[in-house]
Order: sequence, then C-alpha cells, then structure tokens
Amino acid sequence: MTTPDARLAELEAGLADVRGRIASACAEAGRDPADVTLIAVTKTWPASDVAALASLGVSDVAENKDQEARAKHAELTDLDVRWHFVGQLQRNKAKSVVRYADVVHSVDRPELASALASASAKYREGTLDVLLQVDLEEGASEGRGGVAPSGVAALADEVSAHEALRLSGLMAVAPLGGNPDRAFARLAEFSADLVATHPGATWISAGMSGDLESAVRHGATHVRVGSALLGKRVSRHGSVRP
Ligand SMILES: *Cc1c(COP(=O)(O)O)cnc(C)c1O
Repeated sequence: MTTPDARLAELEAGLADVRGRIASACAEAGRDPADVTLIAVTKTWPASDVAALASLGVSDVAENKDQEARAKHAELTDLDVRWHFVGQLQRNKAKSVVRYADVVHSVDRPELASALASASAKYREGTLDVLLQVDLEEGASEGRGGVAPSGVAALADEVSAHEALRLSGLMAVAPLGGNPDRAFARLAEFSADLVATHPGATWISAGMSGDLESAVRHGATHVRVGSALLGKRVSRHGSVRP
C-alpha cells in the first residue's frame, strides 16, 4: 500500500522527468517549452492522483472513458484543472461528456460533432473546444478511431458551422510500431493545411509517453502523457492496459 506522501513523491519525480524531457526536446527544436502544454492522462488512476498532480502544478488532465471521467470529475468539481476527453466517443455519451469536459480531442465524424454541439448548447455555458482526431494508420489497424486525412477539411467545415463548438485543431496517435517522426511530420502538414482555412485551429495534440520528443519536434502544442507520469497501468487481470 502506497501512502499518500509516497505517492505524491512518485508523481513529483515522474513530473520532473516528463517536464525535463519536454524541455530538452524544446531546446533541441528551438521551441519555447511554454508553447507545449502537458496533459496528464489519468485514466485508470484514482481521483486522488488527479488532485495530487494539480497540487504539483499540472493544469490539464485527460480521460478516455466517460463513466470513469464523470466519476472522477464529480469527486473533484472544485479542482482548478482543464478536463480533456481523449477516448472514442459514442453519440449518446455527448450529453454526459460536455458537462465536465473542456476539450474533446476525438471528434472524427459529423454525427458526433452534431451531438456534441446540441449537448453543449443545452448543458454548457461556453463553447466546447474540439479537436479532430486524424487516423494516421488509414484503417490499417482496428479501432483507434479518427477521420481519414482526406476527410479533415470537410469535417472541419462541419464542426465550425456549429456555434456551440470551437474548432481548435488536430489530434493523432502515432501508429503502433511505426515511425513516429514520419507520422507526426504528416500530422504537421495536415495542421498547416487546416490552419490555412481555419486560422484559429492551431492546436496539435500529439505525443505520448513513448514518443513525446518526436511530437515536440514536429510542432505538438499539447502532449498527452500517462504512464511516464503515473506509472504503468495494470488491469485486474495483471496485464498492462493500452
Ligand atoms: C492512454 C492514452 C495516452 C497516454 O498514453 P501513455 O503511453 O500512457 O503516455 C495518450 N493519448 C490517448 C488517446 C490515450 O488513450
């Protein structure tokens, strides 16, 4: 059993390590670390970890399952952090997600955008920040989600037609086992194309524990880091969870 103090020390060490990696990658790329937001991916970890990370200065946290995210947020309503939703999302969950999420990274089809827009108009005060998840594997592997690169422009137009949504940029996950530099270089090109027609959509959400340096090299504005910060996720069956 880890005591709260020991856990805080672990998280502090993880955070120092990850911030150090981001700073080095920025130095190599000639970028300002202030231009890269660290999002702590807290899925599978308890609300107490989210609170501990916030006490250490983490301003952004992400979850990938509605039920888990909703429960954690309910425990931490007063915590001053931005909540990001990064998982695949069914339309019928939109009503729930817009009540706690500030940003949804995983919009990949018009029906989901419509559902988020009507739910936001009904249940939220301000607009909801939305990123389009781009499929960099182009269907090669099952079910990470994402719109094909050829569909980004049309989906961007759909999203920006909704007043309750603000199109903020693109998100992607590098293909498993592929070359992240190649993947994130492509994402940077898609981002440049998008910004040419939607000047406000400048965010690039890319990079996780294993490939954040590559993402920073290719212009990521937001990195989503879980295991390097919080430790390996272990399921009840003892296997490491994706
Ligand atoms: C889990 C997850 C992450 C974080 O992955 P780590 O390898 O633990 O850093 C980032 N993005 C998404 C979409 C995730 O589901």
